[in-house]
Amino acid sequence: MKYISTRGQAPELTFEEAMLTGLARDGGLYLPAEIPVMSQDEIAALAGLPYEEIAFRVMWPYVSGSFAEDEFKQIIARAYEGFGHDARAPLKQLNENHFLLELFHGPTLAFKDFAMQLIGQLFQVALKRRGERVTIVGATSGDTGSAAIEAFRGLDAVDVFILFPHGRVSEVQRRQMTTPADSNVHALAVDGDFDDCQAAVKDMFNDFDFRDGVKLAGVNSINFARVLAQVVYYFSAATNLGAPHRKVSFTVPTGNFGDIFAGYIAKRMGLPIDRLVVATNQNDILHRCLSGEGYFKGDTIPSISPSMDIQVSSNFERALYYAYGEDGAAVAQLMDELKTGGFNVSQGAMEALRENFDSGRVSEDETLATIEHTLAHSAELVCPHTAVGIKVAEDHRATDVPMITLATAHPAKFPAAVEKASDVHPPLPSRMSDLYERPERVTRIANDLGAIEDHIKRHIAE
Ligand SMILES: *Cc1c(COP(=O)(O)O)cnc(C)c1O
Repeated sequence: MKYISTRGQAPELTFEEAMLTGLARDGGLYLPAEIPVMSQDEIAALAGLPYEEIAFRVMWPYVSGSFAEDEFKQIIARAYEGFGHDARAPLKQLNENHFLLELFHGPTLAFKDFAMQLIGQLFQVALKRRGERVTIVGATSGDTGSAAIEAFRGLDAVDVFILFPHGRVSEVQRRQMTTPADSNVHALAVDGDFDDCQAAVKDMFNDFDFRDGVKLAGVNSINFARVLAQVVYYFSAATNLGAPHRKVSFTVPTGNFGDIFAGYIAKRMGLPIDRLVVATNQNDILHRCLSGEGYFKGDTIPSISPSMDIQVSSNFERALYYAYGEDGAAVAQLMDELKTGGFNVSQGAMEALRENFDSGRVSEDETLATIEHTLAHSAELVCPHTAVGIKVAEDHRATDVPMITLATAHPAKFPAAVEKASDVHPPLPSRMSDLYERPERVTRIANDLGAIEDHIKRHIAE
């Protein structure tokens, strides 16, 4: 399988090369040159298999040139062995035809562990074979950073630097990033918001001297290996509810569009998904865009679902690539216009997007009310991101198609909002109950590319 850039101007790469590179050199995002399709029989055969086996069957065509079959099976096994639930991604029923897909049983209690734990193992095997070392840099609105640190801590071929917006992540999220004691882990609190952190990471990748000098590698949600890992649970959930013999829909609490884009890939692979519903909080650029108002940046407003406080959804570029008929030049043009504020989507591309995606926006008050309502009516305590999803799902539910809402984080990751809504303090699972006692290690840094690059150069291991 070859991988191509959404902007059409970067060299084609193998899976391993695209994974180790992250962002393409033309500023675009890598995608497989062709999306493999599974037959209805192959999909039906997934029902009831162990999660790891489904993961192997779904991902194998994408990675087969880069890893041996047994090697890849072992990578998958190691990636998910630290999860606190044997099903890895269990389904729970909320009410008639509405299900929650619990994606928070990994080591940092959010869905990002599914991708990050896999990518940590993939990097380790690939770098060991090459005899190389890399510097991983990532921006986080909270959950990516802790998931990356947990996945890469202690690996000797990797230094990991995580940029997060100072004061804008929850205390649990911050402590998950600042308490690991491994010397290859570096948490940077940037004086700015998430979009500033994400822009700094993009700028580092476009600074080729720096990029080559420190052997930069990216594991943000732009990394196709992460998207791929997330495709798996769409298959496990849908087949457990009767696919491919009946359709299902998904509602996804969305920020960077990585998680829901994985659902779109699953659909193109042949999984009979009816609707993919984008759920946003008050940072609603995707909802506005899908409502036909164009893609124009606003200011990021802090919310009680901070992992979705994003105004530029980097993976949306991938959806645009397909909506514009795989025209890299058209995507490059749109991304140029985005630099000066935004762009309008052509009518044809809008129709293509609407064929697959619906959207909804949820206010802060509605989020709190949904947490309370879900506890009262379904005996489930949910995190604020999940509540955003549940509210939008209820608004988009059809009577004859099961709706699956992705539960993206454990409520204990966001105790303040959950307690405010429900009067219940969500306890941390016992395996991390000493989190508040562990010492923190963090560097506060200006929102300045030079200062950040300098810090990284001085702190990578020789
Ligand atoms: C990252 C995150 C999201 C948003 O996912 P995207 O892939 O960025 O759209 C939603 N909820 C939680 C809890 C997250 O950590």
